[in-house]
Amino acid sequence: MKTNESRIEKINEVDLNNGNFTAYWMQSAQRFNYNHAFNYAVSRANYLNQPLLIFFLVDKNYPEAKYGQFEFMFAGLKELKQQAEKLNLNFHIFEYNSLDLISDILRDASILVSEKVYLKNLRRWKNNAAELLEIPFYTVETNLICPVEEVSDKEEYAAYTIRKKINKIKDQYLNDLAILELKNKREIKLTKEINNKIIKNLDNYLKNIEFEDKRSFKKFFAGGYKAAEKKLNDFIENKLQDYDEKRNLPHLDYQSDLSPYLHFGQISPLQAALAAINSPEDEAGFIEELLVRRELSYNFIYYNENYDKGLKEILPDWAYTTLKEHASDQRNFQYSYQEFDNYNTHDKYWNAAQKELKLTGKMHNYMRMYWGKKILEWVDDPEEAYRIALKLNNEYALDGRDANSYAGVSWCFGKHDRAWKERKIFGKVRYMNSNGLERKFDMDKYLEKVKNLN
Ligand SMILES: Cc1cc2nc3c(=O)[nH]c(=O)nc-3n(C[C@H](O)[C@H](O)[C@H](O)COP(=O)(O)OP(=O)(O)OC[C@H]3O[C@@H](n4cnc5c(N)ncnc54)[C@H](O)[C@@H]3O)c2cc1C
Repeated sequence: MKTNESRIEKINEVDLNNGNFTAYWMQSAQRFNYNHAFNYAVSRANYLNQPLLIFFLVDKNYPEAKYGQFEFMFAGLKELKQQAEKLNLNFHIFEYNSLDLISDILRDASILVSEKVYLKNLRRWKNNAAELLEIPFYTVETNLICPVEEVSDKEEYAAYTIRKKINKIKDQYLNDLAILELKNKREIKLTKEINNKIIKNLDNYLKNIEFEDKRSFKKFFAGGYKAAEKKLNDFIENKLQDYDEKRNLPHLDYQSDLSPYLHFGQISPLQAALAAINSPEDEAGFIEELLVRRELSYNFIYYNENYDKGLKEILPDWAYTTLKEHASDQRNFQYSYQEFDNYNTHDKYWNAAQKELKLTGKMHNYMRMYWGKKILEWVDDPEEAYRIALKLNNEYALDGRDANSYAGVSWCFGKHDRAWKERKIFGKVRYMNSNGLERKFDMDKYLEKVKNLN
C-alpha cells in the first residue's frame, strides 16, 4: 500500500548532518491531530533519539490578512501552545522577518519537516528556505486526503474528470491517524538572541499590529481545534442527515461551517471525512464537496501557476471567448468596488449576502455563487469583475486566500463548468437571477437572518 509514504517529499539535496534536534515547521496544518507532517517529524526524532522543536512563524505582513483572520489563527495557536505544554513538547511562535531567522532557529538542527503547501507565496517561502538550509528538508502532504500528484499529473478540466481519479485511490488514504508519542522530551535551549524573537503573548502582539479595520468574527467563529471539532460533531450529529436536501437553503445553516478551520489547517479534512464515513448517515454528498470539489481546487492552483492572474490564464477557451464576445453588452446596473464593499446595490439579496460576509466572516454557499455571478453582471469588464470578486472574498472571508477562493470565484466565470444557453453579458457562462432565488428558497427568511446579525 502506498498511503503515507507518497505524502513525503525531500525538497533539497542536503544529507543528514549531526545536529542535536529534529525540527517541525508548522505552517498550514495548525494542529497536532490528524497531522501527517507532525507525525513524520516525531517518527524521525524518535529514530534519531532526538528532541523535537516545533516552530510557527507569524508574518504580520502576510498578503491580504486582516485583524479577524489573525485573531482566528491566534486562538488556534494559543490552544496549541497549551496542548504542547501538556504533551511536554518544545513549541515556539516567532515573528517572521527574514529567511535568516529560519537558519538561526535551525543552527543546531539535524533535519527539518514541514507540510506540503500549494499557494504560490507559500511554495516560494518553502523553496527559498530549502535553498538556504544546510539540513535535509522534507515536506509532508497532510491538508489533502489524496496527495495532489497521486490523483493527477495535470490540471483537471472539471469535477467529472477528477472524480473518477480520486475514487480510484481514495480508500488507500482514508486511514485513521493517532498522535505519535515523542520519546525524547528534552527541553531544547535556544540562544538568547533567538529566544528574544519568540512571541510570548499573542494577545499583546495582536494589539500592537496596526489594522485599518479591527473587525472581529469571534462571535460567529471561535478559532482553534476544539471549536472545529465541536462544529464537526454538531454537523455529524444534527445536520449530515439533511445535508443534501438543506445545504443550499440560505436561510438555514445546514453546512458544516468547517471551511475557516480547514483553511488554517486547524482541523484535517481526513478527520472530517472519517467522521462522516463512520456515522450512520449517508455521507456521499458531503464527501463530494470535501474531497472531490475541494481537491479539484487544489489541483487547479497546483498545476496552473497563473491561478490568480486573470481570466485569460485560468478559463477554458469557450468561457473566455464567450465573455470577451459579450464584454461590451449593455449593463443595466454598474457598481464600483466601494459600492459592492458597502453592500450598496439595488439588489437586497446581494446586499444581504455581502453584509453576511462582512459581519460574520463567511457567506452562505449558495449566496456565494449568486454573489459572484452578479459581480460579473454589474461590472463592465469581466477581468475587473473577477478582480473585485476575488478581492472582496479574500478581504473578508475567514476561509479566503485559499485554493477554494481562486476556484470558487473563477467558477462564477465558467471555470470547471460547462457551456449553457447563450445570453446577454454572460454569453454561454451559467447565469443566476433573483427570480431563481425566490422560486427555490424562502428569501424573506434569509433577509431576516442577516438583518438580525450584529
Ligand atoms: C464565489 C465563491 C467564492 C468561494 N470562496 C471560497 C473561499 O474563499 N474558501 C473556501 O473554502 N471556499 C470557497 N468557496 C467554496 C464554497 O462556497 C465553500 O467552501 C463553502 O461554502 C464553505 O462552507 P462549509 O464549510 O460550511 O461547506 P460544506 O458544505 O460544509 O462543505 C464542507 C467542505 O467542503 C468543501 N467545499 C464545499 N463546497 C465547495 C465548493 N463549491 N468548492 C470547493 N470546495 C467546497 C469546503 O472545504 C468545505 O469546508 C467559494 C465559492 C464561490 C462560488
